[in-house]
Amino acid sequence: MQPSPPPRWVVLKYGGTSVASRARWEKIAERVAACIEEGLRPVVVCSAVSGISDRLDALPAAALKGEAEAPLAAILERHRRHAADLGVDPGLVADDLDRLSRLVKGIELVGETSPRVHARVMAFGEILSTRLGAAFLRGRGLDAGWVDTRECLDALPDPDPRRAFLQAHCGHGLDPALGERLDGVGRAVVAQGFIARDADGQTVLLGRGGSDTAAALFAARLGAERCEIWTDVPGMFTADPRRLPDARLLRRLDYDEAQEIASTGAKVLHPRCIPPVRAHRIPLWIRWTERPEVEGTVVGSRVDDAPRVRAISTRTGQYLVSMDTPGMWQQVGFLADVFAVFKRYGLSIDLVSTSEMNVTVSIDPAGNAFDAERFAALSDALAPHCQTKLIGPCAVVSLVGRHIRAILHRLGPALTAFEEHRVHLLSQAASDLNLSVVVDEDQAPRLVRNLHWLLFQEAARDPAFGPSWLALSDVGEQTAEVEGITPWWHAERERLIALAAELSPRYVYHGPSVDAAAARLTALSSVDRVFYAMKANPEPRLLQRIERAGLGFECVSPAEIDRVKAACPDIAPDRILFTPNFAPREEYVAGFEAGAWVTLDNLHPLEHWPDVFRGRDVMVRIDPGKGRGHHDHVKTAGARSKFGVSFDQIDRLKALAAQHDVTVVGLHAHSGSGIRTAAQWAEVAERLVEAAQRFPTVRHLDVGGGLAVAEKPGRAGVDLDAVDATLAAFKAKHPRYALWIEPGRYLVAEAGVLLARVTQLKKKGPVRYVGVDAGMNSLIRPALYGAYHAIVNLDRLGDAPTMVANVVGPICESGDTLGYNRDLPETREGDTLLVATAGAYGRSMASHYNLRQPALETVID
Ligand code: ASP
Ligand code: MG
Repeated sequence: MQPSPPPRWVVLKYGGTSVASRARWEKIAERVAACIEEGLRPVVVCSAVSGISDRLDALPAAALKGEAEAPLAAILERHRRHAADLGVDPGLVADDLDRLSRLVKGIELVGETSPRVHARVMAFGEILSTRLGAAFLRGRGLDAGWVDTRECLDALPDPDPRRAFLQAHCGHGLDPALGERLDGVGRAVVAQGFIARDADGQTVLLGRGGSDTAAALFAARLGAERCEIWTDVPGMFTADPRRLPDARLLRRLDYDEAQEIASTGAKVLHPRCIPPVRAHRIPLWIRWTERPEVEGTVVGSRVDDAPRVRAISTRTGQYLVSMDTPGMWQQVGFLADVFAVFKRYGLSIDLVSTSEMNVTVSIDPAGNAFDAERFAALSDALAPHCQTKLIGPCAVVSLVGRHIRAILHRLGPALTAFEEHRVHLLSQAASDLNLSVVVDEDQAPRLVRNLHWLLFQEAARDPAFGPSWLALSDVGEQTAEVEGITPWWHAERERLIALAAELSPRYVYHGPSVDAAAARLTALSSVDRVFYAMKANPEPRLLQRIERAGLGFECVSPAEIDRVKAACPDIAPDRILFTPNFAPREEYVAGFEAGAWVTLDNLHPLEHWPDVFRGRDVMVRIDPGKGRGHHDHVKTAGARSKFGVSFDQIDRLKALAAQHDVTVVGLHAHSGSGIRTAAQWAEVAERLVEAAQRFPTVRHLDVGGGLAVAEKPGRAGVDLDAVDATLAAFKAKHPRYALWIEPGRYLVAEAGVLLARVTQLKKKGPVRYVGVDAGMNSLIRPALYGAYHAIVNLDRLGDAPTMVANVVGPICESGDTLGYNRDLPETREGDTLLVATAGAYGRSMASHYNLRQPALETVID
């Protein structure tokens, strides 16, 4: 008989969110089946269901306080629900849950816990998730066995009991006995991440996030063909994609680069999982559980040695300890003395910079339990050596790549990004793999954005960089999943294609979506009146729907007032708020004649045309002094903004009002658009109260609009409940004021789409163009603000993307681009493309530039 060939192992690691639902387990089953098909033997290494490890982590402390009952019940309940979701017998984990409960009871009774007990408690997370998962796979007809990882991975001894039990290390040498052991368990084997055992057979943990490490250890000891890390992002990126959606997927990294990116902040991979696979040259794949077809990142051996920047990583919440000493110069042993103190306090130092008079080090509190109290103790202990100062919270921003030193000169323009930022510390790793700067934490996002733009704008042509996170999530179906909502136009696909066939380009507005947005606004308990800023979209049928919902209208020109009155003939005049800016005298006259609330946003009218205002009630627009918004042009506050009366003009305003018998009944401020900070409107209200104190006649505070809508994948709109809560808190404090708001985009943006037909295709060098019949004369926001609108091919909705293209219009301007680097399925002449969230400031800003007729409008129900 021929001896059978040795098994070819593959390790598949699934993280917390990847094992948390039936939908994800379906993906795992598919992957396991595909690997078996490939002739491989999968070892599926799983994390605990997401959120469970954190809860288990908190259990022992809760038990000591006698407060473990509720959190324990929540853990049990979560697993019962999970079993039901997976359709497997919850009885499978009854024993484990019982053991966990007894262990927690034990801690409560003894009134004592230890790292050893802590490790045992936390191990249950992975035990539970794998028992249920293995049963699910068997239910799918797969031959899947279950092993206890503690019988597979043994930890190296460590004299420090905390590290020994909570941060254990294991050897990663080839282990033929392990292969034999797993061989008999099943065609596929399900095992736990995160755990191992020590020489005494005790449970130990591999450190938080340690399931990646367990997977890499299995791969190394089995000599696997590859190790696949399946997670909730598609791979490693040039920057954190959740914060910077333009970040590009990194297709290939060598082990050192991956290690460096993981160590400098990216959370995708645990840094400790690299050494085992590197030692055996096992390829490590990072893939997206939800969308397995996306290519992901492959980590392997170095292919070339060219200098380059691969990624920008950020670590926030860091602290600097700055130590001043006049005596360090040429002094022997100063650093040794000082560092000995850090050692005594168990503080691990991250970055160091030294000068003749100062040494500054950075500390990562995540690994260190560092707080104000500990700093005070540390600085006392350092007092004989130096004067200490704590700086923070800071962010460490690192440029990661190979031979950074050799490309410092090319970084020249990128370094100008530092000009505006105070750099506390700069450090270049001796490994030549990273260059790190430490800045104030709130500076980091902007710095990263600038650096990323400067370093990677050219990357479109480099095959090492894959699609951007935006492009990856910019397919209708997936966008919806990221957002947790399906846009209305999915259900209307056929109808939209027919409408575009009839006439294109064409704006289509979905009436029910406008009604729904209006209903969300009228439901705000803290707000007394909502005025629709109709400049966003003055389409008469939409105005009628908004009027029926009970909203008023904020108009910025007499023509807008006329439009409202024509569309809604019975509207009460006090539902119209007129807020012109630098308008001629006669427009104010017209506003009062229409019976509208009239807003002044400058003193000039009172100074020069007092007759128009005499005896009248007016609103006054105040400049709150600081702007906020998605682009400089839409920030509408601060000295450089043309809107509003500034605080230092208030005395003069009061005098003029008194002199001309004008009553200020309301104050208004608006500080920008696309704002996601929920407290923004309450902050504006507070600011208005400061001004209102000077005007006892003020009854209304209009806190403006700017409520952000969800337009980019992975970026939700503003949290309305949170806005309501902060405004309610304001009202409780200042009950005498009625609160008004005046949103525009919020009501109509998502309701509108722009339909366009593909005219021509082009490929020039590496860049592809998809031409459509809608140009910037129909939708100017991308050209004017760099605004992002998702673009999908309606004819091929849901098809996998096969090309990255710029979507361009027919206008003779290079800015006539509706979207850059968009992932599209195979697209042909005549296809219908849909440009999403185009209901606000689309048609209302359109023009006849190039004498082209802008897209016409249709409202559907
Ligand atoms: N469940 C463990 C944790 O949350 C290990 C892991 O998921 O990687 O830290
Ligand atoms: Mg992880």
